[in-house]
Amino acid sequence: MFEILRKSLRTGIVTTSYPETPVEISRFARGRPEIDWHKWEDARPATAACPTGAISFQDTGERRITRLDLAKCTFCGLCAEADKAIRMTNVCECAARRRDDLVTEASYSLKPDGRHERLVSTPDSRKSHLNKTASLEPGSLDVLGRKIKTQVDSVLGRSLHIREVDAGSCNGCEIEIVGLNSPVYDLERFGIHFVASPRHADMLLVTGPVTRNMEMALRKTYDAMPAPRLVVAVGACGCSGGIFGQNYATVGGVDAVLPVNVYIPGCPPNPYALLHGILVAIGRLSPAPKPSHPAV
Ligand code: SF4
Repeated sequence: MFEILRKSLRTGIVTTSYPETPVEISRFARGRPEIDWHKWEDARPATAACPTGAISFQDTGERRITRLDLAKCTFCGLCAEADKAIRMTNVCECAARRRDDLVTEASYSLKPDGRHERLVSTPDSRKSHLNKTASLEPGSLDVLGRKIKTQVDSVLGRSLHIREVDAGSCNGCEIEIVGLNSPVYDLERFGIHFVASPRHADMLLVTGPVTRNMEMALRKTYDAMPAPRLVVAVGACGCSGGIFGQNYATVGGVDAVLPVNVYIPGCPPNPYALLHGILVAIGRLSPAPKPSHPAV
């Protein structure tokens, strides 16, 4: 016992000062991939190498529209091995409030052999997101979003209770979530606590693709939470269905079942990425800047 106490005193404070200080992470840690859009000669090898369809392209005549979707990306690095115009970074603060803010598109004119000739334009990626809400009056989503955000900020800004639901994950995300309560990340210093009952929770943290077996349980957990309530989708599986997508056993990402307030990409997202996403959700941090579209 005394030996443990002596060791603790010798070790001193290990808690990170994040977000006041930047993320302290090994330069070898796996973060999001980065494409050098101007030097990208061919989207086909990386698309073939990508196991989740995070990199994709569509050819229309002499044009090719390429797409990098961080919601699907597992940060595996296979694209970087297949194409020297892509490199893996250690950037982990990727959380976004909108699914389509995780998507970057660019289009190229093509050579006869199918390689890229020239970067032509950067199409607007927001259409897909807006299509899902097409039944709402124009502008009503923004008004509703602002209202909810004001309510959430005023009610939850200083304290937050989280209920975590594993909707079908491999437990990789859970291991990182457990790390949030360690002395290093110490989530409780923000007044944020995990709770056992959804009736006490303000935020639902959901991991995994939503399996059909867990769909009803997830809906019921959400329904049991008092308003205002936040939903955060964790990891590639939670953000998009990840490697599983939609199949006989899974319905896809969390937003196929519940309205999602924040998406945290990664496979799994490390505790810094989780902290960033949770603080973004309660308005204490800004979301990651949308990956810049390449200037033509
Ligand atoms: S790092 Fe992401 S984009 Fe690259 S191959 Fe892996 S899943 Fe696909």
